[in-house]
Amino acid sequence: MTDSITIFWFRQDLRISDNPALSEAAQGGSLMSIYILDDQSPGPFKMGEASRWWLHHSLENLNKSLNHSLNFYRGSSRQVFRDILKSKKIKAVFWNECYEPWRVENDRLIKHELEKAGIECHIFNGSFLWDPNSILTKEKTPYKVFTPFYRKGCLQGPIPRKPLPSIPKVHFLKDHSNPTVLENLNLLPKKDWYKSFGSFWEIGEKSAHKKLEHFLENGLLGYQEKRNHPDKLNVSRLSPHLHFGEISPNQIWYKAQSKGQIEGWEKDSDCFLTELGWREFSCYLLYYFPELPHENFQKKFNNFPWGSNKNLLQAWQKGQTGIPIVDAGMRELWQTGYMHNRLRMIVASFLVKNLGIHWRFGEEWFWDCLVDADLASNSASWQWVAGSGADASPYFRIFNPVLQGEKFDSQGIYTRRFVPELENLPLKYLFKPWEAPEDVLQKAKITLGTTYPHPIVDLNKSRQRALSTYKSIRNI
Ligand code: FAD
Repeated sequence: MTDSITIFWFRQDLRISDNPALSEAAQGGSLMSIYILDDQSPGPFKMGEASRWWLHHSLENLNKSLNHSLNFYRGSSRQVFRDILKSKKIKAVFWNECYEPWRVENDRLIKHELEKAGIECHIFNGSFLWDPNSILTKEKTPYKVFTPFYRKGCLQGPIPRKPLPSIPKVHFLKDHSNPTVLENLNLLPKKDWYKSFGSFWEIGEKSAHKKLEHFLENGLLGYQEKRNHPDKLNVSRLSPHLHFGEISPNQIWYKAQSKGQIEGWEKDSDCFLTELGWREFSCYLLYYFPELPHENFQKKFNNFPWGSNKNLLQAWQKGQTGIPIVDAGMRELWQTGYMHNRLRMIVASFLVKNLGIHWRFGEEWFWDCLVDADLASNSASWQWVAGSGADASPYFRIFNPVLQGEKFDSQGIYTRRFVPELENLPLKYLFKPWEAPEDVLQKAKITLGTTYPHPIVDLNKSRQRALSTYKSIRNI
């Protein structure tokens, strides 16, 4: 046994700057940094395929920044700690909190075992602007509605921590008894569908900051209005970087706030900060209502007659519904691992309301395909769209995908990009090819049912059906 060691445990905070637990751990001058791929503890919420692809590259980048001293392990994190303890004398373990229910429970058990062995555990909040424990109503109960949560709870609560100064010089130790290298984690999916992702993303801490700067210069002005238009470059696409913690919300918060103030763009920067508030709210809901990913938040939805038609679900997953804006969104997801927020709302509304399919099927598909798949944001958002969530979208809000396309992709640029078989269809019919006269279809080289599907559902009839089903449970 050598001298006692301090461990820093990387989790969803794959960065060196503004990392509260790492900053504290680094004060000792030397530490062993570890990453554990734990596919056992999450149960059904094991990381999806697209996220694994991102994680592989994110860890690769982080390891480079740490002079290849990051130590990789695979297996149940409790067991990994037990194994490390057998061969090393550990003084302290530092980590940043995560709020997925399985992690909360796992961390509690690990902390208990470590402390029993006389090891100090130092735990920090490094991934959220507000600690969920610090935001409660006057009655000391959790908020259930976004606006009071954000306006009263957060904005009038503790001021978010300012980003930390760089860490002092640290000697990162290598665990020479551990043969596992990044490649042994087998994170890259077996199917090669993700190969197209590479051209859309630059992964890692440096790239996250570059992307933030680019967004502040080119996307923030006009954000409030243009963030709804998928053909415009007015959203940040920071979500996967935030999910994996390559950048902290505090770094984004203060830079965006200051840019808004300096340029006089407060309306846009406030709107952008509010979106970060939605991220906080989702995490908050998951923390207080840990069953959110698998149970209706509003129990009256437990008797809702959801369908589960496999053919309809598959057509939706493959972007073959015959509803162009829906197909464009689903194909963006498949090709890039990301989908614009407006599209996420449109395709989710279509799945649960027009197709009548349970939100959990949509949640699962997103979980597997999104590079930013996040248990809190994904489950809260699906329940929001389905109407079963906290502060959910009203039951009568059923997006009309034709009107949504005409309004938010008014030049058809986005839809034509992802549904190229409709490229030559005039804008007048782009979002409803089934209404195009035969000669127009012929000229655009489209044969409905052959080159592009007929709609899999009648939009008006399915809307009426959804409205009456939703109405029937409204007052339960
Ligand atoms: P920007 O507009 O640039 O917003 C900045 C940041 O704010 C985002 O990176 C994100 O962290 C946060 N944010 C923005 N909108 C929301 C929102 N509605 N809810 C929570 N946080 C938000 N987001 C995820 O990060 N992971 C998911 O798994 C996820 N699943 C979703 C599923 C559905 C059905 C819907 C409707 C939304 C989902 N969202 C999810 C929320 C939102 O769509 C994405 O966060 C956003 O599109 C990411 O793009 P951006 O970084 O360009 O956003």
